[in-house]
Amino acid sequence: MNKYIFVTGGVCSSLGKGVAAASLGSLLECRGLSVRMVKIDPYINVDAGTMSPYQHGEVYVTDDGAETDLDLGNYARFTQSPIMRASSITTGQIYQEVIQREREGRYLGRTVQVIPHITDRIKQRIFAVGESAEVDVTIVEVGGTVGDIESVPYLEAARQMTRELGHENVITVHLTLIPEVAGNELKTKPTQHSVKELREIGLQPDVLLCRAPVALTDDLRRKISVFTNVEEEAVVSAYDIKTTIYDIPLSFYRQQLDEIVLRKLHMPLHETDLGAWEHVSRAFRHAEHTVRIGFVGKYIDLNDAYKSVDEALFHGGIANGVRVELVKIDSEELEREADLDRIFDDIDGILVPGGFGSRGVQGMINTARWARENNVPYFGICLGMQVMVIEYARNVMGMPGADSTEFTPETSDPVVSLLEEQVNVKNYGGTMRLGANDTLLYEGYKIREIYGRETIRERHRHRYEVSNLYRERLHEAGLLVAGVTPDAELVESVQWSGHTWGIGVQYHPEFRSKPVAAHPLFQSFIAASYARERARTARAHADVPAG
Ligand code: GLN
Repeated sequence: MNKYIFVTGGVCSSLGKGVAAASLGSLLECRGLSVRMVKIDPYINVDAGTMSPYQHGEVYVTDDGAETDLDLGNYARFTQSPIMRASSITTGQIYQEVIQREREGRYLGRTVQVIPHITDRIKQRIFAVGESAEVDVTIVEVGGTVGDIESVPYLEAARQMTRELGHENVITVHLTLIPEVAGNELKTKPTQHSVKELREIGLQPDVLLCRAPVALTDDLRRKISVFTNVEEEAVVSAYDIKTTIYDIPLSFYRQQLDEIVLRKLHMPLHETDLGAWEHVSRAFRHAEHTVRIGFVGKYIDLNDAYKSVDEALFHGGIANGVRVELVKIDSEELEREADLDRIFDDIDGILVPGGFGSRGVQGMINTARWARENNVPYFGICLGMQVMVIEYARNVMGMPGADSTEFTPETSDPVVSLLEEQVNVKNYGGTMRLGANDTLLYEGYKIREIYGRETIRERHRHRYEVSNLYRERLHEAGLLVAGVTPDAELVESVQWSGHTWGIGVQYHPEFRSKPVAAHPLFQSFIAASYARERARTARAHADVPAG
């Protein structure tokens, strides 16, 4: 029998439900189980593709081209679960599917209603992931907070599944908040209320994960247990972790969360192997040096806008045994070239991530120039690579008007443009290039060396491409084309010739990086930045007069 765990949230949002669900998934995997992760977003948007990064943080892209919520990225970082289009369920999708069936006459004249038609569709979508032979446990995170109008049909589906499949096969883990009030007192009342609300819908939580600034005392756990009807040992402390979120699986393990869950699901308790997480934790604690990465983007005020890139940089730090400090710089602050020496003074490497629209692009172009001329490690991702191309054309190849047609449609030199604006190219359709495809890396370039492979597979999310009308000229001038699509039609990677580490990629490597297995490009970029940090500090020491 395949098993299901619903993860719900109480009191308020942003308590880290995604990380908690993913940590639990990982602990089950460490015991040899095959886990699948599913995220439910009760909003009416069909997917996250049209949502502003300001409102919603990063859009996480799957191999099969779905644009999803950033929590799917947490699942990908913590677990081995394949994250695909089917892993992300929204109210928009569910209604679209049900309405389409209704139009096709497939409900045979019946009135189409939330119960049973919407709830049935929700269950079908969950079973589509969980009912395969190779899956042991499916973890379904219900976004939002219990009590939201939008999440009612999903909690109802969870209730139905619990009854239909039996409570030994479907359990509910509820993440809640124990706030601290004046006098360092921890308050359980909001938790009591949120469990009450869950029970009104017919769901009795089996496990409580209690977010609190500190670990809960046994007395407090006993009290919560009495009021919520959750076994005392299943009241688990999700206290604030000062080190890294990657210590959360270990923290849950110490409180036997995996054992409790497996017992409730009537599953055998196989031996666990937490070696990978212990390694991550050690690397984090023992890191002595700090590498400072200048992170130049346009949505930097919002913490989650580049979530996967941030995390991938940290993974690169773990792999190199160094701490990575992100210095986020709004690209609009870099529009005056004279400021760059000062702003980048103590920076060891620079990353320019993806983005859309023209605001802040000039600052990114200045950044690329500064990194190229000062031989500072530079990593350009998607827009960050297109910026390398524009900068090179303008400042090295004598085309001051060079630009992407995204920013200047009438540019004299459209070095980056839509495919239909180029000649001699197959028509790819003018829409967003989304999802994974193969890339060929040419022999003799740094990126090929870094991957150690000729063919790689990475995910895309962009519309514009390096123009084939300029490609050869760019290459001859020293902006080397190092990777292409298998048909050689599209540029996938460029490299500055004669530079210590200047690499741009049209795809998004950050989506594939994990703390236990840093993406090779991030590992190599941090290694190069670390080398600069070493050289910089050695120079600083030498400058200090003796005595
Ligand atoms: N705006 C650029 C494009 O559409 C880059 C997109 C990105 O960085 N993800 O091609």
